Amino acid sequence: MTTTITELPPVAKSFYTLCKKCEAERYHVVLAHTSEKSAKIKCEVCGSQKSYSLPKASKPRAAAKPGAAKPAGRRGKNSEESRRAAHIAEYEALLQSNDAKPTQTYSMKARFEANHKLDHPKFGLGVIRAIQPEKIEVVFQDEVRSLIHNRP
Ligand SMILES: [Zn+2]
Repeated sequence: MTTTITELPPVAKSFYTLCKKCEAERYHVVLAHTSEKSAKIKCEVCGSQKSYSLPKASKPRAAAKPGAAKPAGRRGKNSEESRRAAHIAEYEALLQSNDAKPTQTYSMKARFEANHKLDHPKFGLGVIRAIQPEKIEVVFQDEVRSLIHNRP
């Protein structure tokens, strides 16, 4: 049975610990202290020398970080799926945050404003994310589209 020692025995004293060479617990003689917590020791059976460090005070294991997400795959189906998921999340967030804003039916002659909702006969409900003089960028459920507006 191994006795866990908490401090290093004095030089020339022996203590019982595992010898990797013998693959067994052996008496080891302390040759020298190399630091407060480590010593040079020698197996009394095979004569192999090694450094011995006092076992560190047991600490609670660091819990796995919950936020450490795996990096997303950069290619293939997964990235396509995560791109879609990000798009849907943006679409839903935009719809939600602009819930109170007016919904306009799309027409290229109409003039639109950012964050208003847009009802498109073909693409469905979208939210206007950006406005340019003649173009609007609309987040639809399936993708972001540039549409023209403000045409006389
Ligand atoms: Zn040994």
